[in-house]
Amino acid sequence: MSAVLPATWLRGTPVCFLRGTLKRVIAIYPGSFDPLTNGHLDLIQRGAKIFDELVVAILRNSEKNALFTVDERLEMLRAGTGQWSNVRVESFEGLLVDYARIRGASAVLRGIRVVSDYEYELQMAWMNRKLDPTLETIFMMPAGAYSYLSSRIVREIASLGGSLAGLVPASVDVQLRARLGVAPPLAPK
Ligand code: ADP
Repeated sequence: MSAVLPATWLRGTPVCFLRGTLKRVIAIYPGSFDPLTNGHLDLIQRGAKIFDELVVAILRNSEKNALFTVDERLEMLRAGTGQWSNVRVESFEGLLVDYARIRGASAVLRGIRVVSDYEYELQMAWMNRKLDPTLETIFMMPAGAYSYLSSRIVREIASLGGSLAGLVPASVDVQLRARLGVAPPLAPK
């Protein structure tokens, strides 16, 4: 409880002054990540900086139409996020608010790339607030270079043999082309 915090000291500084509060904030970053892109990783990096723990959670509900299985996506995300010790990767099924309650999360992280994302994201956030008023949705913007990047566009470019350099991790690039049966793009002459 914050009222008793001034009695707690860490290297000469009251703990309450280090973070303002001792409450641990766990956030969930849900999505399909089919496949993982550098835009997702940009958001994860930003989230890992402001939350005590960030749980990247693959939604299992839409598994049937996915290009990669949930296990493959878990693997991709774990390989891509290993450098952040406060990031955990899991999958879940059902309502996000129920999963967040089980995980002890008080926030949901979502990305806003362009204005067109806003309408859908706002609708989701309002609905989640209706279902659980204690759960806050936090929106973050990626670096400008990723503002046009989505998993859908990445799948499309890969299937047409285009270069994904700088848009997805190298291992995801290899997996995508193998899954789609497409040769890597020719180097420009
Ligand atoms: P969805 O299936 O809801 O589109 P995604 O797996 O594509 O989910 O993305 C999950 C979350 O990551 C969403 O909030 C989405 O806005 C965000 N996101 C996806 N791509 C990017 C990107 N390039 N930059 C920032 N956020 C992104």
